[in-house]
Amino acid sequence: MPELPEVETVRRDLTRSLAGKRITQVEILNVGSLKGATPKGFLREISGRSFTRFDRRGKYLILHMGTGQALVVHLKMTGVLQYQQKGDSLPRAARIIFYFSGGKRLVFSDQRKFGSIELVRDAGSIHSLQKMGPEPLEKDFTPEILKERLGGRKGPIKPLLLDQIIVAGLGNIYAAEALHRAGIAPQRPANKLSGPELKKLHRAIVQVLKEAIDARGSSVDTYRDGQGKKGWFQVKHRVYGKQGNKCKRCGGTIVKEIFRGRGTYWCPKCQR
Ligand SMILES: [Zn+2]
Repeated sequence: MPELPEVETVRRDLTRSLAGKRITQVEILNVGSLKGATPKGFLREISGRSFTRFDRRGKYLILHMGTGQALVVHLKMTGVLQYQQKGDSLPRAARIIFYFSGGKRLVFSDQRKFGSIELVRDAGSIHSLQKMGPEPLEKDFTPEILKERLGGRKGPIKPLLLDQIIVAGLGNIYAAEALHRAGIAPQRPANKLSGPELKKLHRAIVQVLKEAIDARGSSVDTYRDGQGKKGWFQVKHRVYGKQGNKCKRCGGTIVKEIFRGRGTYWCPKCQR
């Protein structure tokens, strides 16, 4: 599932390829992928518009249209947004296609159909965006804020890191990678983490996300960037998908366990 680095990569790609281009036509191949408008209403609101600003909040992409309206895109499990040239082959799971002058198009494809594109009058009014925790790459995300957001909870740290209300944008991959870098076991109760451990965890979250953005995200599944290409951070994963491999830090063996319903990758030897 695309997490912060993947969505940020798509955001940057689309900023480059779409800014100022006018939408000439929209084709809706799967009505279920559309939210906030009927297909007819959507076509009426979107045709002739262009995207003026490209934002991201957590794992959501927000395409502003300069009219106060915006499209809020959630890629969920298998959503892909790619900008194509005339003649490129259409992805098999194409759900909504935006056409621009010159035959270029932005294709939203989504194999499992959990993702969506929502037309909203005011992106700030979306409930799930308002409730979301701090952006981990913004300056106001500090070890103190992380501690405050965890709020003395006794639950294990890993599922808490996946909770978008605590920190925005982390999912199963980067939570696992950050905990490994910080040397913290996924099962550790959040309220038992010491000050230095919270500092290490904060630093690990920021670093792993930055490195993943530099590598254009992780393509472990269907993720593709805004040009339809794979990211390559997966080759730098230390625990995610590495079960049975040797830990690069301590030589122990990486394991995969189902913990709280999610595949959890970690090194029992150096994560305490
Ligand atoms: Zn280890």
